[in-house]
Amino acid sequence: MSRLLLVSNRLPVTVKSDKDGVSVVRSAGGLATGLRGPHERSGGVWIGWPGDVSRLTPPQRASVEAQLAELRCVPIQLSASEVSRYYEGYSNQVLWPLCHYFIERIPRQDRDWDVYRKVNERFADLVARQYQPGDTIWVHDYQLMLVPAFLRARLPQARIGYFHHIPFPSSEIFRSLPHRNELVRGLLGADLIGFHTHTYVRHFSSTLMRLLGLETVVDRVEHEGREVRLGAFPMGIDAQSFENLAKEPAVLEEVRMHREKSAEQRLVLGVDRLDYTKGIPRRLVAVQRLLEREPAWRGRLRFIQVAVPSRTGVEDYATYREQVDELVGRINGLYGSVHNVPVHYLYRSFNEKQLAALYRAADVMLVTPTRDGMNLVAKEFCAARPDEDGVLVLSEFAGAADELGDALIVNPYDVEGMADALETALDMPQEERRTRMRILRARVKEYDVHWWVRSFLDTLEATPLAPPRVE
Ligand code: UDP
Repeated sequence: MSRLLLVSNRLPVTVKSDKDGVSVVRSAGGLATGLRGPHERSGGVWIGWPGDVSRLTPPQRASVEAQLAELRCVPIQLSASEVSRYYEGYSNQVLWPLCHYFIERIPRQDRDWDVYRKVNERFADLVARQYQPGDTIWVHDYQLMLVPAFLRARLPQARIGYFHHIPFPSSEIFRSLPHRNELVRGLLGADLIGFHTHTYVRHFSSTLMRLLGLETVVDRVEHEGREVRLGAFPMGIDAQSFENLAKEPAVLEEVRMHREKSAEQRLVLGVDRLDYTKGIPRRLVAVQRLLEREPAWRGRLRFIQVAVPSRTGVEDYATYREQVDELVGRINGLYGSVHNVPVHYLYRSFNEKQLAALYRAADVMLVTPTRDGMNLVAKEFCAARPDEDGVLVLSEFAGAADELGDALIVNPYDVEGMADALETALDMPQEERRTRMRILRARVKEYDVHWWVRSFLDTLEATPLAPPRVE
């Protein structure tokens, strides 16, 4: 196995400071868990931003650096202005809405491109300094789309992979971006470009054809004398760990408490970052429609919506939050009683154990984004149901829908259809719930995050290295 250099915007760690000093703790996220084994076994390093450490004293910073080195992490320092323009500006206010088909949300003025480009170049410089011949480089996500080409210029012989964790939109959408060609050429610096679904691969291929006249033959494109491979690698979760959590006595006790609180009621669950791609308003209206249409469900339904605060500095997110607040208030005002309200809205985040308890307690899980690269919550819900019960209602516009066809698949723009699906889910006989959940769980457990890492890296390792450049 060659040494693996992982590159992502954020390092898989959180820097915590309190009265006892600073500590660097590993993040629990799926990506961090999946890559941890290969990262440690290969003896490579992970390169990325450790978060804002500007308020730390020089000795605290030295301590952070030492702890990062211990975890084989190499930090890149970003100034406040770089974070605001490369990350919040270009990545989250241009590329994020673009790839999720929200082009009208992109700011009119293209102010942050230069900083995005510059920070991508700095990442590439840092990676090139860490590189040793024979290393494999794996770059992650839309914040770093130019890094593969910057690396190729510095390391013509390196083996470079890139994975796009969000949707790749139709070429009709992508071509509206002023810097579309640079971004696509940026990705083409890689030997292997991975996406979650075949649809995203197809969109990328047609973008290549349309913008650069490059033809994809099966899964290969010729670019500047090199062969670039494209592939679909649907990301999985650490299914075993969610299943184990869902069986822990403390979690089962929490499940019992959730159910006790809603005795005589059915529990419907939504878990999302508060992001405009997650389809929360239409989902709420679908719940409202069901209560409107079917008075028998009034008082018998408890919808818990977890909304994790996200990108709170961005104005669009603040407006979106107000919209959601207002809808929740309206539905509860209409259908609440002195004893209970239909929507329990929780604007906060939960840890994995608490999530596992919620997943396991739910009768119906609503995952209805208008666009989502994959959606891991849908998979976590299935993994957390060793009891083979619970119904998943899943948007056809989540990457996960390609794999989880045994969920109730809905169009998140069709509110009436979602209300129908919710009703079908609530009325579904136990035998059907079990049959569907068994199939969903088998898929989620077999194609887990470890499978995803292995299949991407095996494909990358099998790509022929670029021929030496003839000057
Ligand atoms: N999550 C969490 N705490 C919460 C809600 C969600 O840790 O209170 C995690 C969840 O377990 C999942 C991730 O956040 O792993 C969300 O991933 P997903 O692909 O569903 O959406 P994203 O937020 O990446 O768009």
